[in-house]
Amino acid sequence: MSSKDMELLHIIYETPAPHVARILLNRPDAINAQDTRLLYELNCAFDRAARDDEIKVVILAGAGKHFSAGHDLHEDPRGVDYSSFTPVGTWCGFGCAGAEGHFQREKEIYLGFSERWRNFSKPTIAEVQGAAIAGALMLIWPCDLIVCSDDARFMDNTVDMGLAGAEFFNHPYELGIRKAKELLFTAGWWDAQEAHRLGMVNHVVPRAELTAFTLDLAARIAKMPLFALKCAKEAVNNAQDAAGRSTVMSAQFALHNLGHSHNMQTHGMLIDPNSAAAKLSKAPAYTARG
Ligand code: ZN
Repeated sequence: MSSKDMELLHIIYETPAPHVARILLNRPDAINAQDTRLLYELNCAFDRAARDDEIKVVILAGAGKHFSAGHDLHEDPRGVDYSSFTPVGTWCGFGCAGAEGHFQREKEIYLGFSERWRNFSKPTIAEVQGAAIAGALMLIWPCDLIVCSDDARFMDNTVDMGLAGAEFFNHPYELGIRKAKELLFTAGWWDAQEAHRLGMVNHVVPRAELTAFTLDLAARIAKMPLFALKCAKEAVNNAQDAAGRSTVMSAQFALHNLGHSHNMQTHGMLIDPNSAAAKLSKAPAYTARG
């Protein structure tokens, strides 16, 4: 089955206004945690919006109280059946031994997807409420604009897990150098107002107005000619890439996976067993063994 005709079980695709698609993460009972299937479904939904010439703007939102808890640490990456999915990259080899398999898996479904969505041709808007943790930033940051509610809060706790930041390393561009370091080093929360002050989000609105405000912003953008929107987006993205963004991203991805490899050699698992995430995880790859 190609990603084009995948059945959407964890994602809802809707068109709430002319020329606007809204993609909803729909695993609220799991705080919209991203397992492999959800990410392939999400990619399928983005592709659907890309191929529909009537769609000009895409909103990415999460069902329930929180936007997303990040990557699903209850899914054992070694047990994933990849035959259900069509890879979008060419590294593949997800079942290989040692660091090779996991590096290639993350290159496909974490860095690969986030980078692909960052380069999605049409304008995208993230609509964020409640908690957005680590991997959640890898869905939010690739979007062009971010609107959040006043109860939104953000965290990257990967250093606590023994890793050098989430796989899509946009931290310095989103937060500035000093705050990127502070937020990584402390693995602490930053709230909506702080995110706005840092320039990470475009607008903070009351929770009850979040969806309507975001849809209104999308509708305003949808009045513009699509080709000009695509070209304007690419122009700004090119400016960032010309300054070395993709090189920074690649170097950090290697460091991130060095962390996984170090944890595996030292602890026999992908993350530090003393981290809060390891204590919450149910998957052996992330859980301290006897
Ligand atoms: Zn990782």
